[in-house]
Amino acid sequence: METWQKQLQASITSPGILTRRFGVDPRPLEEVVAKYPMRVPAYYLSLIKEVGDPIWKQAVPDLLEIQDSVCLYDPLEEENQSPVPNLVHRYPDRVLFLVSSECAMYCRFCTRKRKVGGENMRVTSETISAGIDYISQNPQIRDVIVSGGDPLLLSDEKLDSILTRLRAIPHVQIIRIGTRVPVVLPMRITLNLVRMLRKHHPLFINTHFNHPDEITEQSSKACARLADAGIPLGNQTVLMRGINDDPLVMKSLMQKLLAIRVRPYYIYQADLVQGTDHFRTSVEEGLEVIRALRGHTSGMAVPAFVIDAPGGGGKIPLLPEYLQSLGAEVILKNYLGETYSYVNAASKAEKELIRKVVNDNG
Ligand SMILES: *Cc1c(COP(=O)(O)O)cnc(C)c1O
Ligand code: SF4
Repeated sequence: METWQKQLQASITSPGILTRRFGVDPRPLEEVVAKYPMRVPAYYLSLIKEVGDPIWKQAVPDLLEIQDSVCLYDPLEEENQSPVPNLVHRYPDRVLFLVSSECAMYCRFCTRKRKVGGENMRVTSETISAGIDYISQNPQIRDVIVSGGDPLLLSDEKLDSILTRLRAIPHVQIIRIGTRVPVVLPMRITLNLVRMLRKHHPLFINTHFNHPDEITEQSSKACARLADAGIPLGNQTVLMRGINDDPLVMKSLMQKLLAIRVRPYYIYQADLVQGTDHFRTSVEEGLEVIRALRGHTSGMAVPAFVIDAPGGGGKIPLLPEYLQSLGAEVILKNYLGETYSYVNAASKAEKELIRKVVNDNG
């Protein structure tokens, strides 16, 4: 067995260990774990500095998860936009393809909390074949996002087989893998894995760092291996109370990501997912985080801030109010709050109309 598989097997899956290690009474948390599974790899647990810190909050169950009455079961209506099990076809040219029901860690804030690690999500060779058939029968699909659960919990052989079958579909231009493994189980990024992945270019990986303390020697090394294999790395962060809702923390995270060759891609406003309300911030706080990034640091460090619209509307970007008014004159506010104006040009249609009037009169 490989080291990463041993590490995974040795993960903490019940709250009991918390007493011994942190002096916290685990008994009330048993009920939470009965509803939403717990799994924390020893590596990630070792990043906790104290009870309740941003690493703890992402990994350790909280009673608030079962006291949440605000949020919805399937807010993004993924089930409604699923033509075959475990495949979501929301946008015309790309699909989300769930190939694993397991994750290295069950993040307490997870959007697919209702499914991952439980009986509600069944991935079998039949669902995988049905997904691949659907993709091959729909030539408008040029981008496949392989996700889960976490696809990197599959064996190299199994993942290789899925990627090979996807690559054999002529209209599939790019493949993206969504994985939190570089953050929570970096030893999974083995040389063998990377050798296999690089056969399937153009392949992108989007990972999921939420806090600067997650950028360690090990996670940096995992990202370096992937980047060295020519795999462009992006990052999706969820904005969360007590974890990264401070603009300075977020700026530090974005800058540190670039330093390990991971390009910030999205910051998500937290979804309305049952069991996660205690993580949600206001949208104004998200806009403030973006305002504190743009102009104040490298543009490369500024991702799009999006709300994944409840009801399955897709990701909708939000920007602080840089555009003050739009007409013949465009009034703009820069990152320091200073006002500037730009003289607008006529649109193509307006220019054609003017040319026509001039010609008619001449
Ligand atoms: C996020 C998502 C995508 C990909 O969106 P991009 O903006 O292209 O990254 C595709 N399908 C579903 C269902 C999604 O949730
Ligand atoms: S790794 Fe991703 S899918 Fe899995 S529990 Fe964490 S956030 Fe959810």
